Amino acid sequence: MTTRHRIALIPGDGIGTEVLPPACAVLDAVGRRHGLDFTYDTFDWSCQRYVTEGAMMPEGGLDRIRHHDAVLLGAVGWPTVPDHVSLWGLLIPIRRQFQQYVNLRPIKVLDGVPSPVARATPDVDFVVVRENVEGEYSEIGGRLNRGFPTEMAVQEAIFTRQGTERILDYAFAIARTRRGELVSATKSNGIVHTMPFWDELVREAGARFPEVSWRQEHIDALVAKVVLDPSRFDVIVASNLFGDILSDLAAAVAGSIGIAPAANLNPERDHPSMFEPVHGSAPDIAGQGSANPLGAIWCASMMLDHLGHPEAATEVFDAFASTLATADARTADLGGTATTKEFTDLVLQALTRH
Ligand code: ATP
Ligand code: MG
Repeated sequence: MTTRHRIALIPGDGIGTEVLPPACAVLDAVGRRHGLDFTYDTFDWSCQRYVTEGAMMPEGGLDRIRHHDAVLLGAVGWPTVPDHVSLWGLLIPIRRQFQQYVNLRPIKVLDGVPSPVARATPDVDFVVVRENVEGEYSEIGGRLNRGFPTEMAVQEAIFTRQGTERILDYAFAIARTRRGELVSATKSNGIVHTMPFWDELVREAGARFPEVSWRQEHIDALVAKVVLDPSRFDVIVASNLFGDILSDLAAAVAGSIGIAPAANLNPERDHPSMFEPVHGSAPDIAGQGSANPLGAIWCASMMLDHLGHPEAATEVFDAFASTLATADARTADLGGTATTKEFTDLVLQALTRH
């Protein structure tokens, strides 16, 4: 029996357009072995489009991908277009409209990735669960008394009970399927309204998941520990801002930005989830065919898992992990000489050997 999935592809800008075809090739290859049939619809939503047509995506764009099973995004961003355009013109509307309130970042040290931290502690394997739609990144606030000595900017952070409880429940539930250890990132010694509320809801969630052992750590102390001893973590749950910083830091700890994947999940599955490598459009290497497609391929593996195909997801993971362990398969960012295509072909070979 064949299971069909319709995937919306948003290649975006720069190397985003170079790393998605490898991810699709891997999906097709593993799909053939597992009776999965992928159909792709490609959307040219990008900074490129913003420059020529004045908007990242067309009006009503979100309705065109609302009924797809998942969204796979390459990278959006270009030096001539301000960052907030790609963020508020595409990424944030998708995350909010489709209630992708979980941002999930697996952090694993893979063989063959040159990282000083990784060499010291190779058994790094944790996930950062970031709240993705509310918190510190709100549009509420403004500027007062412009031009006067009393001029000020006010930015409000919004933490709702519902929004906080659902991200905490997701994080605790994931911890239960892993090693059962959760750390909550807080700063309730300095932020006196929202963070104590967050802490209170963490205590309540902890009581709902008695099998998970949890503690809270102030974000400043926590980032130091993530750098110095990343192998001690299993699940870290954090607000939108803290999670944003933590997940990029953690990706760097694990090695190269070119390999880190991210999932923007709608756990209820009433809207599509979106999978995007952590890296940007990398204008400095765009068009050379040298980009590392691993981040995008890892995204494909996470997507398979989310779509209910954990075995196929593991096969993809094992294929790229074993490929990476061979020195001559590595791309330039990892100190090798392989091109995007060469690395992809080796992953495809590893998949069929499986
Ligand atoms: P953005 O603002 O879109 O996040 P950025 O400039 O902050 O972009 P990247 O585009 O990720 O960040 O580029 C950072 C550096 O990492 C660049 O030197 C780029 O070439 C390199 N890089 C990023 N992704 C990859 C990849 N997949 N393969 C190889 N090198 C990469
Ligand atoms: Mg950047």
